[in-house]
Amino acid sequence: MNQILTAALAAAGRGWPVFMLGRSKRPVANCDACRVATDHDPASCGHLTCHGFYAASAHPARVTANVDAVPRGQLAVRTGAVSGLLVVDVDPAHGGTKSMTDLLNEGLLPRTLRVVTGSGGQHLYYAHPGQHVPSRPMPGRPGIDIKADGGYVVLPPSLHHRTGLPYRWATVNGSAVSEMPPALIAECLPPAPAKPSTPQTSSTTTQPGGGISCPDKLLAAHLDAVRRAAKGKRRATLYGAARGVARMVAAGAIDQADAVTALTFVGHQAAQSDREIRAAIAGGFRDEGIAA
Ligand SMILES: [Zn+2]
Ligand SMILES: [Zn+2]
Repeated sequence: MNQILTAALAAAGRGWPVFMLGRSKRPVANCDACRVATDHDPASCGHLTCHGFYAASAHPARVTANVDAVPRGQLAVRTGAVSGLLVVDVDPAHGGTKSMTDLLNEGLLPRTLRVVTGSGGQHLYYAHPGQHVPSRPMPGRPGIDIKADGGYVVLPPSLHHRTGLPYRWATVNGSAVSEMPPALIAECLPPAPAKPSTPQTSSTTTQPGGGISCPDKLLAAHLDAVRRAAKGKRRATLYGAARGVARMVAAGAIDQADAVTALTFVGHQAAQSDREIRAAIAGGFRDEGIAA
């Protein structure tokens, strides 16, 4: 039996809904019917590989069929309340190692089930706290992403799409998934809502998808962050917004071309050059596993 299938069934055996990504870490393309479907609920569609993480299942027969349907793809587990998982994703390429050290020193990261990613990052698996926790960068902690509701992470022994190296368990697969300390939960929750301003890209079409219940609001929030960024922080903020919007693309909540248009528009509003805008979008999309 192939290793991915063994791993997929083991994960399903823990009650984790799993699904296959393409080799490039992008969700598998929807079938023709789902691509043109309007007024269509991705959560109840039921197609084996359509709608990204909505295809995830912990049912052994379905898991087997899903793995068979995407040979050489990457195995992924859906995070969030649906799987009971919240994963702290440490990206060393963006300062994650220092941020993780800070979090450890502050006692916020108790020992738990852990994966070393194929790019040298780490995934710390915690028990989802129950209330809605959005998937997004952890505020004020560079290089740390929260993968929770509306998210997913790649599971071992998938091969990383750029390095070709496998994701691997750093703790014994089967180790306990620890509870989150209250202070860690607080780090993961959004701050009190700021007064929303009117989105100026209302022509951009968004659709509910990927566990994103209000894509218009989410898109507006990403774009707004760029408009409001202080002068020295605009480039970094645009990159962060590009990553957030790339996740919406991955979840099928927004069309990729529309996403690039909206980000370019707001980049110009924030006085960024074409070159800076292209670099920020390409970098943000690439780091979410999407070719811009
Ligand atoms: Zn379909
Ligand atoms: Zn469908």
